[in-house]
Amino acid sequence: MPLIVQKFGGSSVANAEKILKAARRAIRAQQEGNQVVMVVSAMGDTTDDLLDLAAQVTDRPPAREMDMLLSTGEQVSVALMAMAIHSLGHKAVSLTGAQIGVKTDAVHRKARIKSIETARLRRLLDEGNIVIAAGFQGIDDDFNITTLGRGGSDTTAVALAAVLRADACEIYTDVDGVYTTDPRVVPEARRMNRISYDEMLELASLGAGVMHSRSIEFGKKFDTPIHVRSSFTDQPGTMIVDESERPDQPVSGAAITKDEALITVHGVPDVPGTSLEIFSRVAGKNISVDMIVQNVGELGKADISFTVPRGELPAALEAVQEAVRIVGADQVTSDDNVAKVSVVGLGMARQTGVAQTMFDALAAAGINIHMITTSEIKISVLVSRDDSQRALRTVHQVFELEKQAPVPAMATKANERAADAADVVARLQGINMEDLTIDDITLDASQARVTIQGVPDQPGIAARVFKEIAEAGIFVDMIVQSHPKSGGGQATVSFTVPREQLEKSLAVAKQIGTSLKCKGTTSSPTIAKLSVSGVGLRTHVGVAIRMFRAIADAGINVEMINTSEVRVNVVVEGNQGEKGLKQLQQAFADVLR
Ligand code: ADP
Ligand code: ASP
Ligand code: MG
Repeated sequence: MPLIVQKFGGSSVANAEKILKAARRAIRAQQEGNQVVMVVSAMGDTTDDLLDLAAQVTDRPPAREMDMLLSTGEQVSVALMAMAIHSLGHKAVSLTGAQIGVKTDAVHRKARIKSIETARLRRLLDEGNIVIAAGFQGIDDDFNITTLGRGGSDTTAVALAAVLRADACEIYTDVDGVYTTDPRVVPEARRMNRISYDEMLELASLGAGVMHSRSIEFGKKFDTPIHVRSSFTDQPGTMIVDESERPDQPVSGAAITKDEALITVHGVPDVPGTSLEIFSRVAGKNISVDMIVQNVGELGKADISFTVPRGELPAALEAVQEAVRIVGADQVTSDDNVAKVSVVGLGMARQTGVAQTMFDALAAAGINIHMITTSEIKISVLVSRDDSQRALRTVHQVFELEKQAPVPAMATKANERAADAADVVARLQGINMEDLTIDDITLDASQARVTIQGVPDQPGIAARVFKEIAEAGIFVDMIVQSHPKSGGGQATVSFTVPREQLEKSLAVAKQIGTSLKCKGTTSSPTIAKLSVSGVGLRTHVGVAIRMFRAIADAGINVEMINTSEVRVNVVVEGNQGEKGLKQLQQAFADVLR
């Protein structure tokens, strides 16, 4: 019998009427011949209300007790949902995370799923019940209740669909699918018919709150298509699968992270191991870091800038101060009035001038870019929070994301998917489900680096630089632009190009440098780009650390860094590439599949 998982978010179970509506939908699915597992979130704003309550009692609630408190929200919902189904004359059983056997690690409030028991679920389903599972929760080895992080019910749903090899995983919510960007911020946003796991992963972790990013890690890792749709209608929504909707387009979607904070460590000694010291301490507090930019300045000192979620700024600063006491630095500054705007698209990797188009549009709108980082499939800019919504709308417009393009048919067939199922089941055995998996470690020694120093910090500068580069037909891979030095008001822009285009790039860079009265231009003809790719690289805060450690242990200095959900790249000196590659292969031997 086909099995279907249906997840209902907070707004879809916000009151009795909505609970009954969700119940009817599940019953209908059962009557159509499916076994049905429901995953339910806390009603409406319950989780926020519980957080408020705790805050009224203390400003430092123990994480264990927070989980005890927050998990009650979902317990209320599952019980009411079971009652609703009973009242409609059907069989249903509600289960908490512990009752199902959702085992997690012991990291309260951000727990990761290790394994899920299926025996009890299967038995109840075979007895004709609709099984109602509490989302967002599990238990650790000591039976402490844990929660998976805000929005975590999505992850419960996709994980259950994976272990049960469900035929469908439906996410019912208050929008009718995944949009090109948050429709509440940009009204002209368009619903997508389909989006790839990799794009959704990036968008989710860059602020698209419609799906919990870890749920997409499950989808990708265990080959589980996810259908995001409205709980108010019967219209189909958006399929999250392994293929992009618009493979020919450079950008598929855009996202905004409003609550971002920037930390800059000024004047760090530029020797191997300093970034490791800083980032391992931040990771030690389980804080994920984004937009890492490192610039080597004068006198062998570097500035390291990166962003963290605004709520975690105090803890991150504490960690940075500890590191600075050990490695030494001139100063640590922070800015919590910033926001990150990003565009994502699988098609970006094959096109030139994408970054330039984005910078150009932002310049035309008079928006200043504080920082830039790129990866193969995304470009992120840091802007002041006041500019951020306008920036999002601007980039949405320039890439014409509102326009509906014909959607090509999927290339992979359902039967090919089924053939993979055996492999997936094998993969599920004997591992922790959310463990890191690394697919590949590579060395690219074909690029060179160009850096322009002392660039004026004004709207339009990045646009100008990359316009001239694009017009010269140069293919730019990585771009990083630093936060201007405190007081100095100048930025450093670095980018990598194919080695055979170095001469040409340098000539263009020098010309730009002169006309903008920049401080100078440097370049390195031999750089090595080392990449680790896999699933969950950013949510597993330890990946970048492992990479830094391996590289620092070999006495190799890191020149540039960029991170995405599926890949971490570091650029090191060219003659260190082979050595770095060997180090990384050793360091990740246990998780390389
Ligand atoms: P639920 O309670 O069902 O889990 P959420 O509030 O977590 O619902 O997620 C749905 C919301 O996500 C939408 O109302 C929408 O405002 C927001 N959102 C952000 N980015 C996107 C996007 N790209 N597509 C659709 N919705 C988005
Ligand atoms: N109730 C939890 C939250 O609000 C989990 C979820 O809804 O997914 O974050
Ligand atoms: Mg949600």
